[in-house]
Amino acid sequence: MAFYIKRMTVIGLGLIGGSLARALRRKALVGEVVGVNRHRESLERAVALGVIDRFSTDPEDGVRDADLVVVATPVRAIVPTIARAAPGMMRGAVVTDAGSVKGRIVAACEAVMPQGVDFVGGHPIAGTEHSGVEASFATLFEGSRTILTPTEHTAKDALELVTLVWEATGSTVETMDPLHHDKVLAATSHLPHLMAYNIVKTLSDLENDVQSEVFRFAASGFRDFTRIASSDPTMWRDICLENREAILEMIGRFGQDLQTLRDLVHDGNGDALHQIFSQSRATRDRVLKIGKG
Ligand code: NAD
Repeated sequence: MAFYIKRMTVIGLGLIGGSLARALRRKALVGEVVGVNRHRESLERAVALGVIDRFSTDPEDGVRDADLVVVATPVRAIVPTIARAAPGMMRGAVVTDAGSVKGRIVAACEAVMPQGVDFVGGHPIAGTEHSGVEASFATLFEGSRTILTPTEHTAKDALELVTLVWEATGSTVETMDPLHHDKVLAATSHLPHLMAYNIVKTLSDLENDVQSEVFRFAASGFRDFTRIASSDPTMWRDICLENREAILEMIGRFGQDLQTLRDLVHDGNGDALHQIFSQSRATRDRVLKIGKG
């Protein structure tokens, strides 16, 4: 089904918001794009880069007459920003977000929607370790998946529009309950990022403590960890604070498994270690198959 958005406002114009704006503009699916950010300088750069047509630093002013409002600020700023913008929203507008955590945010956003304005929670599973509008690009979402988290309050038309928007970027859309989303993402994204932050910290402390040369001999696997651990600190602080319970559960499970590995190494139990490593290899094959599917 075809769609056209006369005016779209993106609040929090960084990697994700900027890439969405670029993708829709490239396909001429949006008329005017208005950017809202706290800092004027990044908005001026966004105009110069052709990502937006004009901007405002005031969310209420920026969303006026917008058919679609996309909020792509760090997770903890989403609810307060939507609450500030709400009085300026046009009747019939659709509001969505791109936050990496959904449960509490979706409930709070639904609660502050003005009469006649619909909210649809969203999370594109795509990104890079870079941030800011300069890092945005039109093809970021091609081949990715986007999770939308409708609830019993979500209007069907609004869900349809947001689905079409993400599909137009080249993403495949799936729906999920908001709290279930948070559990799945805690396992597949949040825990791996925390592991990366932790391993980089451990080795960095080691290098300082014993003046060793760990980084000179770091293998490419470790470089991947440092890449992941260079992701935006504000974004990851917010994710940890907002998805606390699900992340704690995953850290608990991971800790138990690490303890098991520790015990097997301590006991010199080669058979058990070999079995665990073989299972992990089989899991890798399964992950690749699912990815291709
Ligand atoms: P980013 O840092 O590139 O962009 C966020 C922008 O929001 C910045 O320009 C910042 O100045 C602005 N901002 C911060 N507080 C604001 C406020 N109160 N009002 C207006 N603007 C504000 O971050 P990003 O990578 O584009 O992430 C944006 C959102 O998308 C986050 O909620 C994140 O969880 C989610 N997300 C990120 C990724 C990823 O890999 N980067 C992937 C999927 C979802």
